Amino acid sequence: MKTEAVTMNGYGGPETLTLTEVDLPAPGPDEVVLRVLAVAVNHLDADLRSGVSRMPLRLPHVLGREVVGVVEQLGSRVTGRAPGDRVLVLPNTPCGSCPRCLTGRANLCPNADMPGITRWGGYARHAVAPARGLLDIGDLDPVVAAATPISFGTAWRTLYSIGRLAPGEWVLAPGAAGGLGHAVVQLAKLGGARVVGLIGDPSKADFVSSLGADAVLSTRDPDWAAEARKITGGAGFDVIVEHIGGDVFEAALGTLAPTGRLIVGGGHAGEHPHLDLIETFRNEYELRGSRSQRPDEIARVLGLVAAGQLTPRVDAVLSLADAGRAHQALADRRVLGKQVITP
Ligand SMILES: [Zn+2]
Repeated sequence: MKTEAVTMNGYGGPETLTLTEVDLPAPGPDEVVLRVLAVAVNHLDADLRSGVSRMPLRLPHVLGREVVGVVEQLGSRVTGRAPGDRVLVLPNTPCGSCPRCLTGRANLCPNADMPGITRWGGYARHAVAPARGLLDIGDLDPVVAAATPISFGTAWRTLYSIGRLAPGEWVLAPGAAGGLGHAVVQLAKLGGARVVGLIGDPSKADFVSSLGADAVLSTRDPDWAAEARKITGGAGFDVIVEHIGGDVFEAALGTLAPTGRLIVGGGHAGEHPHLDLIETFRNEYELRGSRSQRPDEIARVLGLVAAGQLTPRVDAVLSLADAGRAHQALADRRVLGKQVITP
């Protein structure tokens, strides 16, 4: 069938995104066709577009990792689904049968089905998705549902699945006004932790405070790390969700409490920071990576959003034609929370 999609025919700047008519691939026997209701914009989308993600794409490609839609058509073997179902597509549908999937590490499945990477994503009026990778959204606003899985799923994974965050512990949230950061602040507060939000642009401080952060600091203050430690009464942070890299990583590491957990999920500002091994072993720091999310982690945060306990911040609701502008806004660091496209 014909549909409209934002396609990329090569790697480059936001101008490479072009709204055009395309032939949607026919659904396989275990797939469905969705009419897309909402798709969120991610930093990874911009990295895929520019070619720095180290993930090769088959061109022409359609981006869009966080897809919410209405089921319109079922593949021949699909059961338990009906046209009209309102669903979120998992950003990573694991294969369910590889050694990692069978040992509780489905987020690292090498065979995962990933809309916007391994298949066309949601920057389109219609999308094809695997039937076993769908979560019902019930009455939840599709825009809010689309803004949830990657930010809040990653926040859950880093804080709780990996970080073992306990009530009363201190959390440092770099990039606190962005998609992941604003989710980290909310989820940490929900778990009874105390949170210091770290931002670049000081004008974003009010937003981060409104999420419940106990304090907000700017990296433009050269003494932010000392200030942050002071706020914890000198004890340091128990969990740091670090996805900035470079100077921020190095300074953040110095604010960890003994046995503190620093979890890394990105590092654009410097992917090869200095690491003090002496401080690391003397304080028994835990350094961990975090990659994507397990389906159960996404289901959990989607439930908390539906229950009104978490509120994804939607910075802007845009049309397909605005996809390039949305990428530019991300690059300019003008986005509070998430941008969502409604085709
Ligand atoms: Zn697998």
